[in-house]
Amino acid sequence: MSLTMKDLDTGAPNTWCPGCGNFSILMTVKQAIIQLGLKPSQVVAVSGIGCHGKTTDYLKVNTFHVIHGRVLPAATAIRLANHGLTVLGFAGDGDAFNIGMGHFPHAARRNVDMTYIVHDNLIYGLTTGQVSPTSKQGFVTKTSPRGSPEPGVNPLTQSLTGNATFVARTFAGEPKHMTEVLKRAIQHRGFAVVDVLQPCVTFNRVNTYEFYKQRVYKLEDEGHDEGDFTAAYKRALEWGDRIPIGVFYVEDRPTYEESFPALSGEPLVGQPLRRDLSRLLAEFM
Ligand code: SF4
Repeated sequence: MSLTMKDLDTGAPNTWCPGCGNFSILMTVKQAIIQLGLKPSQVVAVSGIGCHGKTTDYLKVNTFHVIHGRVLPAATAIRLANHGLTVLGFAGDGDAFNIGMGHFPHAARRNVDMTYIVHDNLIYGLTTGQVSPTSKQGFVTKTSPRGSPEPGVNPLTQSLTGNATFVARTFAGEPKHMTEVLKRAIQHRGFAVVDVLQPCVTFNRVNTYEFYKQRVYKLEDEGHDEGDFTAAYKRALEWGDRIPIGVFYVEDRPTYEESFPALSGEPLVGQPLRRDLSRLLAEFM
């Protein structure tokens, strides 16, 4: 029997604010899993701290909720221990580009085969509305009452200069587009980043659904060449009357896993132990 949306629902009560863009991300991740024919037992979702972090409460696959900013190290470890799994990392903009920023360029350049989905609402939602690393310069919040003096982090240019091999952006108000982008990201062999424009309807009154609906355009409608790094970078810098969404850049490069002979066959978890670990294990007994 084929998998349904309900099969991927944990039944946990959802506490996101009505209208939050996180609902759309959760729904489209489920759609992508179903449409790609993945089994829940094959999928691991890792989330960090923030409103996005509850994704792992609501998605019925293998899940791991980590401390702030540590989605990528945990997801990397899971993937290397068992490269038979499909690994999905979920992070908010604060989690990904503030406390977790040190991990980001290294995960990108390593090209571990996983998908990193950033719920990018340009504000801290869970802690009730402070300026975040992706907040735009001049953005007024309770911690930036005169407007943020700093330019925001651009997740796309960071991904490109970090050598990520799949770089995309989509919008929570375009669920069909998001499903297609997520499916491609999951199927990509290597580190795939998907920055999702995710309206926080409670605390971000600037970057709303209406704001994005008036501005987003699709790269695929404009003949964008996904193999052209320079073109991708130029598009990644666009933010104003027009905001591009779609797949910016794709590169075929060996994954980290492929660089290690020990990982070329059976996943590590299925391989026999070649060392006597009894003394080490005894220390933890
Ligand atoms: Fe969504 Fe914002 Fe509410 Fe968090 S605070 S659940 S991001 S609307």
